Amino acid sequence: MEKLDQIYEGKAKKVYATADENLYIVSYKDDATAFNGLKKGTIVGKGIINNRMSNMMMQLLEKKGVPTHFVQELSDRDTLVKKVHIVPLEVIIRNVSAGSFAKRYGVEEGIVFDEPTIEFSYKNDELGDPLINSYHALALKLATKDEIELIKTYAFKVNEVLKEYFLSLGVKLIDFKLEFGKTSDGEIVLADEISPDTCRFWDAKTNEKLDKDRFRRDLGGVEDAYREIFARITK
Ligand code: ADP
Ligand code: UDP
Repeated sequence: MEKLDQIYEGKAKKVYATADENLYIVSYKDDATAFNGLKKGTIVGKGIINNRMSNMMMQLLEKKGVPTHFVQELSDRDTLVKKVHIVPLEVIIRNVSAGSFAKRYGVEEGIVFDEPTIEFSYKNDELGDPLINSYHALALKLATKDEIELIKTYAFKVNEVLKEYFLSLGVKLIDFKLEFGKTSDGEIVLADEISPDTCRFWDAKTNEKLDKDRFRRDLGGVEDAYREIFARITK
């Protein structure tokens, strides 16, 4: 399958049409942004790592009963996926306080929750992806009630699967962002990516950050962190 017209260029990926109207090719770039595009940079090799890691996670999740957009890895940076209408919600699951949660509620990072939390942001760059709840999502007609329920169920299932998987590699899954989409058949599937760009990973022993926070917070060792998490999943 070959790339035809470019449909979209985002901050981290490009999306291309293919000869099959139900399939897209996503192409992962090394470009990195943070703070809604305010901070820009390059993380050398990131596109390759995120592509391959995301595909591995999607295949693991499929096996565990979560439908995904993944079809086939085409090359280091390119993957064939089911074309979906993205539900304009960023679905965030947290196991441990960090990032905007810690800031918003005035707590330190690293507090382990008794139960995971879920929150939604309205995926809208102009508005700065505002936090919304599922009633707001319904009011805005972003998805139906049943779709929102299914998305919540899948999101918690993803957390169960990935938390256990990463712990077996000596990594704590702190939080992550998911996007879901609707296929031409009306099926809700997990889309976009699962990578160090979209998850927080802390080494289980040292709490060292193995994710994009190294870039966001100028901690140094950004490329090494991506390589380290990738080395663990491919060992
Ligand atoms: P952003 O749009 O935030 O800059 P990216 O650079 O990652 O993000 O761009 C990829 C875009 O493709 C995102 O808007 C994402 O929602 C969308 N996308 C991801 N998977 C699919 C898919 N299977 N079908 C259609 N669009 C998708
Ligand atoms: N996240 C993401 N894209 C976003 C916002 C957040 O992938 O646009 C991920 C982020 O990597 C982290 C989780 O979602 O794993 C929670 O992020 P948080 O709300 O703490 O926001 P941040 O600290 O990134 O502003």
